[in-house]
Amino acid sequence: MKIIMLGAPGAGKGTQAKLIAEKYGIPHVSTGDIFRANLKAGTELGKQAKVYMDKGELVPDELTVKILLDRVAQEDCKNGYVLDGFPRTIPQAEVLKKALAELNDDVDFCINVDVPDENIIKRMSGRRACVKCGATYHIEHIPPKKEGVCDNCGEALILRDDDKPETVKNRLDVYHKQTQPLIEFYGDKVKNVDGTKDMKAVFDAIVAILG
Ligand code: ADP
Ligand code: AMP
Repeated sequence: MKIIMLGAPGAGKGTQAKLIAEKYGIPHVSTGDIFRANLKAGTELGKQAKVYMDKGELVPDELTVKILLDRVAQEDCKNGYVLDGFPRTIPQAEVLKKALAELNDDVDFCINVDVPDENIIKRMSGRRACVKCGATYHIEHIPPKKEGVCDNCGEALILRDDDKPETVKNRLDVYHKQTQPLIEFYGDKVKNVDGTKDMKAVFDAIVAILG
């Protein structure tokens, strides 16, 4: 099963993608997590991506597409995957479509997690992330067991630099201009879920769609 998560930054794509990955036994592939891991490791890719991420802009398609295609070509992706944060532009979606078409394949579902902009800024300022294992929490809605510490791996949690309100506003603009058109691109494959509900209710709605 090949699934794409659509929705604004902070809508809950990563949170739901992790639950989907666990239930359906497929990898969770997040381009944002790959960039952050590179940034932490000090690689050239991380340094290049940081310039764009810090401003809330998209990393250029040439860089992003390559890391995504390399990742989904790995052995653990052969039975499917859930993509979180990719594609974010029409050209990215076209490259993925072409790569899958060469394998006589296509995306099965696009889950659009719908959350109005008003809710997003609040969500982002409460988000805490683990850069080591990619886990995500919210200080009010989905808190870790011990404040500031990742439940999975014990690493200290961070407030992402790009979750500051000024940057979030720009990320929302970028989302509306460059990513929202994907809803039309994927047409009938897109299934909407109400992302303002609590985490479990959103997941139940997704499972009802995926079967
Ligand atoms: P995205 O991957 O779309 O950027 P995340 O999954 O990281 O978004 O979620 C953004 C923030 O909102 C995180 O702090 C997360 O813990 C919190 N969150 C996710 N889903 C919900 C929900 N249904 N209700 C309340 N908060 C949520
Ligand atoms: P995310 O963790 O998905 O919110 O992504 C964080 C940041 O990484 C984004 O604001 C972009 O700067 C960059 N990024 C992640 N995925 C992509 C993508 N598919 N295309 C371009 N930039 C991306």
